[in-house]
Amino acid sequence: MRFSIIQSIFLIITSFLISEHVHAQDKYSFERARMVQSQIADRGITDQVTLSALKSVPRHLFVPEDQKSNAYSDYPLPIGYGQTISQPYIVAFMTEAISPIKGMKVLEIGTGSGYQAAVLKESGCEVYSIEIIPELYKQAIENITRAGYKNIRIKNADGYYGWTEHAPFDAIVVTAATEFIPPPLIGQLKEGGKMIIPLGNPYLVQQLTLAEKIEGKTITKSLLPVRFVPFTRN
Ligand code: SAH
Repeated sequence: MRFSIIQSIFLIITSFLISEHVHAQDKYSFERARMVQSQIADRGITDQVTLSALKSVPRHLFVPEDQKSNAYSDYPLPIGYGQTISQPYIVAFMTEAISPIKGMKVLEIGTGSGYQAAVLKESGCEVYSIEIIPELYKQAIENITRAGYKNIRIKNADGYYGWTEHAPFDAIVVTAATEFIPPPLIGQLKEGGKMIIPLGNPYLVQQLTLAEKIEGKTITKSLLPVRFVPFTRN
């Protein structure tokens, strides 16, 4: 078989890109598997969809360059603008809490790095995510694209109002701390839908709360004490 110069250049470039990608995956896949076992499965997360999503999403592509060596560590990391990417265990806990299944329509408030959105996408969900800080919104799109995820819908807006055009949602994941559930978000949750949200003083400790809409009523259950960055308003 004979290749033209252009075909050869094309082949060299694609094989370089593929090997870079595979290399990045391989370099961290051991750390990622260890993270899922010791930080997540050993602490009681059993949902297979959640565990396998966390095993797949390249978390190191969602943290700043100078934090790469900590990407699989057991704590939150700074992502700029005073915000953080949550600890892996908390991401897993929130994902399991909404019982992700293929095709579920999920709204996330607080895109941040885009990591939780990618985990939801990897779990088979149809993902919509809202970020209030324009720079983080742009960064999240870059991270998600670099990690190879397509069709995650992100918008730069105040998540308080939800995303009416795409409502109602099967589940809503709120990743910023608030004293109360924003009423528009309750309105955009389907009957039987689940919301996971850190409720409490945004500057102290909050309770990760599961809210379920049952026969039009919102039933809440506190699950875990957590510390999230504040839910802000424009
Ligand atoms: N889920 C993120 C972590 C988010 S940190 C991740 O996986 O990396 C919380 C994020 O919520 C921050 O990026 C913050 O800017 C954003 N945020 C705070 N208030 C918001 C609001 N009203 N609407 C949308 N995003 C908000």
